[in-house]
Amino acid sequence: MTQSDRTTSDGGLYLGPDAATRLRTSSVDRGRAPALDVDPAWSPTDAVDLALVDTHCHLDADAFADDPPTDILGRARRAGVTRLVTIGTDLESSARAVRLARHHHEIWATVGIDPNDLPVDGSPMTAAMLTAVETLARAPRVVAIGEIGLDYYWNRTSHEVQRAAFEAQLDLAIRVGLPVVIHSRDADGDTFGVLRAWASAQATGAGRPLGVLHCFAGDVALAERYVGLGFLISLSGIVTFKSNAQTHAVARELPLEALVLETDAPYLAPHPNRGRRNEPAYVRLIAEHVAALRGEDVAAVARATSANAARLFRWGDVGAAA
Ligand SMILES: [Zn+2]
Repeated sequence: MTQSDRTTSDGGLYLGPDAATRLRTSSVDRGRAPALDVDPAWSPTDAVDLALVDTHCHLDADAFADDPPTDILGRARRAGVTRLVTIGTDLESSARAVRLARHHHEIWATVGIDPNDLPVDGSPMTAAMLTAVETLARAPRVVAIGEIGLDYYWNRTSHEVQRAAFEAQLDLAIRVGLPVVIHSRDADGDTFGVLRAWASAQATGAGRPLGVLHCFAGDVALAERYVGLGFLISLSGIVTFKSNAQTHAVARELPLEALVLETDAPYLAPHPNRGRRNEPAYVRLIAEHVAALRGEDVAAVARATSANAARLFRWGDVGAAA
């Protein structure tokens, strides 16, 4: 990864939708499958009592092209990460996510078209695209619609086109009975407005979360408003960055019942691997940082966040932690 990748407006927290393409040509990331060398003190024995969930990763990204899923899953398991949700961003990656989930029992899939992968000519999402998402959504082991949302940082298409695609896929989620994975960047006001209207138009049943705010970077007040609507807040590697006081506060002040964990791999590697390729095993690092910020045991953080993920994705339980 280059220095410019890490100097975006919000402190380099996201490599951008082209990152996978850029990583493909990067000799630094290409073909390496780094061992889990972040904390030599970890041992498999330490990890087996944890059952962490990576609620958001992109296992189909080019950065993982030379890294067999079984290797990624093995490293995750040794770090105590037992379930992974690989996220679709367009029709092709959604189809790849469904395939990965079909072939690996630790992996589940989401399907959707994110705001940066709408038609490049700026035209709206078509009915045919929506139908294709719906077909994928009814495949086995699809646990959410997403990632969907608004991205006013990249502004690949107009706000109107983004919003129409967002709302159409939110309605699709109701039709197919799935929660949603939300991407929102530089669009807090509009994202909240859309989700508030959507949430109020449906009955929330049985304490099931409506969805999750992926890679949440807002403040405590906004996080609490989303929780009030029935959403979970997902903490990513940005919570491990020293300068990110706002996200530290979210990790400290929200009730554990409102939080899930994610890597967003291959992007956004947590400290001390910042700038390298991220991978699902590093959820362990994020859990440890959250535990330290809260003054709680990592096992308690793992138990609660995995139980929340299980409620979100309608899993019966999450191994030892449930
Ligand atoms: Zn993502």
